[in-house]
Amino acid sequence: MSIEQQIQSIRSQIAESEQRYHRQGQVKLLAVSKTKPLSAVEQAYHAGQRCFGENYVQEAVDKIQAAAESHWCQETLEWHFIGPLQSNKTRLVAENFDWVQTVDRAKIAQRLNNQRPSHQKALNVCIQVNISHEESKSGIDLDQLSALAELVSQLPNLKFRGLMTIGTRGKAREEFPLMQQAFNHLKNDYPELDTLSMGMTGDMPQAIEYGSTLVRIGTAIFGERDYTQQHH
Ligand SMILES: *Cc1c(COP(=O)(O)O)cnc(C)c1O
Repeated sequence: MSIEQQIQSIRSQIAESEQRYHRQGQVKLLAVSKTKPLSAVEQAYHAGQRCFGENYVQEAVDKIQAAAESHWCQETLEWHFIGPLQSNKTRLVAENFDWVQTVDRAKIAQRLNNQRPSHQKALNVCIQVNISHEESKSGIDLDQLSALAELVSQLPNLKFRGLMTIGTRGKAREEFPLMQQAFNHLKNDYPELDTLSMGMTGDMPQAIEYGSTLVRIGTAIFGERDYTQQHH
């Protein structure tokens, strides 16, 4: 299937889950284009896709700038940074992205806030939660969430939008309800929160069942990734 057909297919799967769990119109699709060429973004664009996710800063910035200058891109795209973020890369992210979903410590939040250019809109931010407590995963533990949320919500150049998590294979039914609970609980203090970024190619229907508002789909749209090339 072509990228355009894959996108149509994912959209109907989202619609099906939305209907099943009474969540019609509440789930947005983020196309994860990391490691894929600009031509793949162009094909997704022609299928009506406008939101894209990237993990590697330099690769992403090249793509964001090339897309903006391309003849086919007539509407603004929305770019989400979804990879681990080191402090020496925050400036490029603050200058080029619309969203950062992987904020997991105060220092990164403060740098993004300070480096966001003043003529740009506030940078949309999700806090990444490590719900599985696996050492290898980024994100904060739930017991540190309220302190970081308070900081992020007070930084003027950031707009706190919600939470993000990466599920563990086979553990969706344990982890996703905990995320849903944490998100709903946080909304008591921050009613403006509207984003629970959860669900990838392998666990999308379960994420929608447990309240995801943003699914991040790479493989099911663009095919398998080739990591033999260097993307960092
Ligand atoms: C790569 C990636 C995705 C997309 O994963 P697929 O399984 O290819 O859909 C989603 N979220 C994050 C954070 C990623 O790094």
